[in-house]
Parts: sequence; C-alpha cells; structure tokens
Amino acid sequence: MTQDKPQIALITGASRGLGKNTALTLAKKGVNVIVTYQNSGEEAKSVVSAIASIGAQAVALQLDTANTKTFDSFVEQVKQSLQDKWQTEHFDFLVNNAGTGIHASFADTTEDDFDRLMNIHVKGVFFLTQKLLPLINDGGRIINISSGLARFTLPGYSAYASMKGAIEVLTRYMAKELGPRQITVNTIAPGAIETDFNGGAVRDNPDINSFIAAQTALGRVGIPDDIGGAIASLLSAENRWVNGQRIEVSGGQFI
Ligand code: NDP
Repeated sequence: MTQDKPQIALITGASRGLGKNTALTLAKKGVNVIVTYQNSGEEAKSVVSAIASIGAQAVALQLDTANTKTFDSFVEQVKQSLQDKWQTEHFDFLVNNAGTGIHASFADTTEDDFDRLMNIHVKGVFFLTQKLLPLINDGGRIINISSGLARFTLPGYSAYASMKGAIEVLTRYMAKELGPRQITVNTIAPGAIETDFNGGAVRDNPDINSFIAAQTALGRVGIPDDIGGAIASLLSAENRWVNGQRIEVSGGQFI
C-alpha cells in the first residue's frame, strides 16, 4: 500500500473484534483509519491510541448503523474529521463490518429480532454506503462482511444468515454500479471466529469451540488475526482485479 499520500479506511464497528483487528492490521501497513463504535467509546479510544503507537493516524466516531436517521450527521462528522485530521475530502476504503447476531430458532425468532438484524446488517449497510459514496475516492474499495452461515446452515441463525445472504447479493450490485468509478466491492465471509460475537460463544464455550474445530479443515476455530489480515490483503494493490466476489475466510469450515 505504498502511495504518495497515505490511504484512509473507514471501518464500522472497529472498537472490538474483527473491525479492531482490521484497523490495527491496516495501520501496520501505513493506512490511516476512521474507527466507528456504538457503545464502546473507551475501547475505540484505545484502538486510536494503538494505531498512533504503530505510526499511523486515527479518529473515532460514534455511529449506530441500525439508525439511518443519524447517517446525515455522521457523514458530516466524517467530512469534518477528514478535513481536520488529513486535509482531504475523501477516503479510500470502506469496511462495512459492524454487527451483532441473534441465536434463535426459525420458530422462535420475533419480528423485533428480525427488524433489528435487518436494520444493522442490510438497511444500514445499504444507506450508509450510499451516503458515503461521494466521500470515497474513485479507485477506492468497499468490503462487506458476511458469514460462512450464508453458505452452510446451523440451527438458530435463519434470520442472521438471511441478512448476510442479502449482503452478498448487494455486494454484486454495488460492484456493477460502482465499476465506472473503478471502485471494487467484495464480500469477506468469515467462519466462526473467537470474538465477543454472540456472547463470545465460539471463544468461551468449549463444546462449541471443539465442535467447530472438528468441522474445519485446518482443525481449529478462527482468531481475529485470520480475518484482519485477509481484509488488509484484499485491500492491497495486488488484489485490484478482484471484484464482486464472495471470499470465505474460514479455514475450510464445513467443506
Ligand atoms: P464483536 O461483537 O466482537 O464486535 C462487534 C462490533 O460491531 C463492535 O465494535 C460494536 O460496537 C459494533 N456494533 C455492533 N452493533 C452495532 C451497531 N448497531 N452500530 C454500530 N456498531 C455496532 O463482533 P465481531 O467482530 O465478531 O463481528 C464483526 C462482524 O463480523 C459482524 O458483522 C459479524 O456479523 C461478522 N461475523 C462474525 C463472525 C464471528 O464468528 N465472530 C463470523 C462471521 C461474521 P460497540 O462495541 O462500540 O458497541
């Protein structure tokens, strides 16, 4: 990622987990980062400090990706941050990562659960990206985060996985329509990774951890470094011709 001017990434949900790991991995490659958080303001500040100690620059902005009404003011804050911090009007990489899961059977999933997931994982990504488009440099990159669960099925994820399936379709449409601006759009679909996601079940529940490890060709569950590195790699100049694709990063889970 050696450029005349350092590149800038905006990563939603970068206060913890996969977003945080992606932010730190990109910073190590000299990319500056706009970190967004919803509730974990202190954690987001720590990510900003960690990025500074690596030698890159970052700012943290609060954002609820489920609430489209706040997007106009968020975009204004992004514009202001770009100007104040980097004297520019544009950024290069958007990683739509923020999200939570709900584990509930198809029979038990409520309309409220469904709407919450839809707002975070589909509607939020759709309209946030739409509103940020004028701020993304031509030749920039967008990565949407899906899940292995959109390919294979495990009981309890019908709503969540359906939303992730929708994002994979949206990725292809975005890639088609943003191609004239030379913006690539791809999906990264992680397998089960040890984060706080779903109450930290993959990390903290030995039965779940060993069940998934046994279903994974590489014989273990994923860790955040497995994903941050893959995202940073996809954002590198070497991967400029990859477009409109779903790339699963799961160590070979359920293959
Ligand atoms: P974590 O729970 O570790 O982190 C979630 C992050 O998203 C936090 O930074 C949180 O912010 C933010 N966030 C959650 N809800 C919102 C919201 N409504 N608006 C803005 N930010 C929000 O999860 P992961 O890092 O594991 O998950 C990241 C992405 O990866 C998600 O899209 C998830 O669906 C996907 N994924 C995860 C897998 C896994 O096994 N971990 C597997 C496949 C996909 P804050 O803490 O500030 O509130």
